[in-house]
Amino acid sequence: MSLRLTNTLTRTKEAFRPIDPNHVRFYVCGPTVWDYAHIGNARPVVVFDVLYRLLRHRYPRVTYVRNITDIDDKILNRAKETGEAIEAITEPLARIYNEDMAALGALDPDVTPRATAHVPQMVALIERLIERGHAYEAEGHVLFNVPSMPNYGRLSRRNRDELIAGARVDVAPYKKDPADFVLWKPSVADQPGWDSPWGRGRPGWHIECSAMAAEHLGEVFDIHGGGVDLIFPHHENEIAQSTCGHGTDVMANIWMHNGFLLVEGEKMSKSLGNYYTVHDLLEEFPGEALRLSLLSAHYHQPTDFTKDGVRAAKARLDRWYEALRRLEDVEPADVDDDPLAQEFHAALDDDLNTPLALSVIDRVVTEVFDGGDPARLKGLLHLMGGIVGHLEATPESWFQGETDASDAAEIETLIADRQAARTARDFARADEIRDKLAARGIVLEDGAGGTVWKRAG
Ligand code: AMP
Ligand code: ZN
Repeated sequence: MSLRLTNTLTRTKEAFRPIDPNHVRFYVCGPTVWDYAHIGNARPVVVFDVLYRLLRHRYPRVTYVRNITDIDDKILNRAKETGEAIEAITEPLARIYNEDMAALGALDPDVTPRATAHVPQMVALIERLIERGHAYEAEGHVLFNVPSMPNYGRLSRRNRDELIAGARVDVAPYKKDPADFVLWKPSVADQPGWDSPWGRGRPGWHIECSAMAAEHLGEVFDIHGGGVDLIFPHHENEIAQSTCGHGTDVMANIWMHNGFLLVEGEKMSKSLGNYYTVHDLLEEFPGEALRLSLLSAHYHQPTDFTKDGVRAAKARLDRWYEALRRLEDVEPADVDDDPLAQEFHAALDDDLNTPLALSVIDRVVTEVFDGGDPARLKGLLHLMGGIVGHLEATPESWFQGETDASDAAEIETLIADRQAARTARDFARADEIRDKLAARGIVLEDGAGGTVWKRAG
C-alpha cells in the first residue's frame, strides 16, 4: 500500500513519504470567523478529515493542525458594523463552527490554534525576515520584499506580471515593489492591536499561518492543505515567509488543494440567493448525508452542490444503515487482508479517490443483502466506515433521527398498544395506531424480533 497525492508544487501525483514515519504532521488553513461557514468551506474540512483518518490508520502518530483566524479585517469590519467587541463575534462563531463540523463527522484536529494567541511568534518571525533582508518597515507597516526571494511564485506558477496584478489589491506608495505584501500593519486607536517593534498594530493574514504552523509542527512538515483559492496569494506567501524566515527549502513537502464547490452550477454568492450555510443545511438534512454528498466527488475536481445530491446521499445511507441493521448482533471479523479491503485502500491510495472507495462500500452492502458472510461483511463495514467517517451511528439513531426522549417513549407506548390490540385480534385499533403514527411520519416495520420504527423519507 502506498499513498499517492497530487502535489500542487509539482502538479503530479507523488508517493507520500513522511519526514518521520513515526510522526506525520499536517496543517490545513481553517476558517476566518467573521460569519457562519458555508457548505463550500466544509469541503476542505471533510476531505482533510478523510486524509487524517487514513493517516491515523496507517501511522503510529499524526498531528493535524487547523487554525482559527480570529483577527482579520473582515472581522474588524463586522465589529464596526454591529458595534460589538471582536470576541463577541469570534467566540460564538468559532464554537458554532466546531459544532457544525463535528455534525459532519469531522474529528477534532489535534491542535486548533487561534491567531490572537500567537502574536509573539508572528512578531518573532517578522523580525527574522527583516534581519535576513527579506522584509522592511515602511510607515508603520512591515512588508515582505518579493524580489528578495528568487523562486517566489513557484507554487502558483505565476509570472511577474501576474504576481503584480494579483498583489494590486492594495497598491501602497510605501511599497518598494508592487508585488510586496503586508506582514504587519498599524492599528488606529479603536482597532485591536498589539505592541511591536514597529508600533501598535496587527498581523497580516499570511504570517498568521506561517507562525502557527511552525509553532505546532516545526519549520518543515509533511502536508499543507486548503481550497484551491488559497494557492495565490495565501499559500505562496506562507511559503515565502516560512522558507525565508527559517532558511529552509520548503515549508511543507506536499501541498494539497481541494477544488471549488459550486451551487446548482453557479458560484455560491449571497446575492444569487444560492448561498447555504452548513448551520442551515443541518436543520434540513442529517450531517452524515451532507458529508457523503461532499465526498461523492473527487476532492480535486470542482463539483456541484445540490439538495438533490444530498437527498441521493441520504437514500444511499439508508441502504447502508439497513445493511448494518441486519448485522446488528454480529461480531465483526478481522478483514485487513480481505480483497475488498485492499480494493478500498487502493482507491484511497490513488490520490484519495473517495468516489471509488465509497463504491466499494456499496458492493459490501449488496453482499449483505445477498446473504454473504455476516462477520466478514460487518468487519468490512467497520473498517471502511471508520476511514471515510461514515456508519459510525447506530442504525436506530440513523433511522429515528433526532427524537427527544419523551417523543420516543410515546412512540414505543403506541407500538406496545398496537401489539396488544393485535394480540387481542382488534385489527381495526391496531391499524388506527399505525395510521396515526404514519401521519406523524413514523413508519413501522414488523419483523421476527418485534416491531421497529423509523422516520419516513
Ligand atoms: P475562508 O474562511 O474563506 O478562508 O475559507 C476556509 C476554507 O474554505 C479555505 O480552505 C477555502 O479555500 C475553502 N473554500 C472557500 N470557498 C470554497 C468553495 N466554494 N468550495 C470549496 N472550498 C472553499
Ligand atoms: Zn493559511
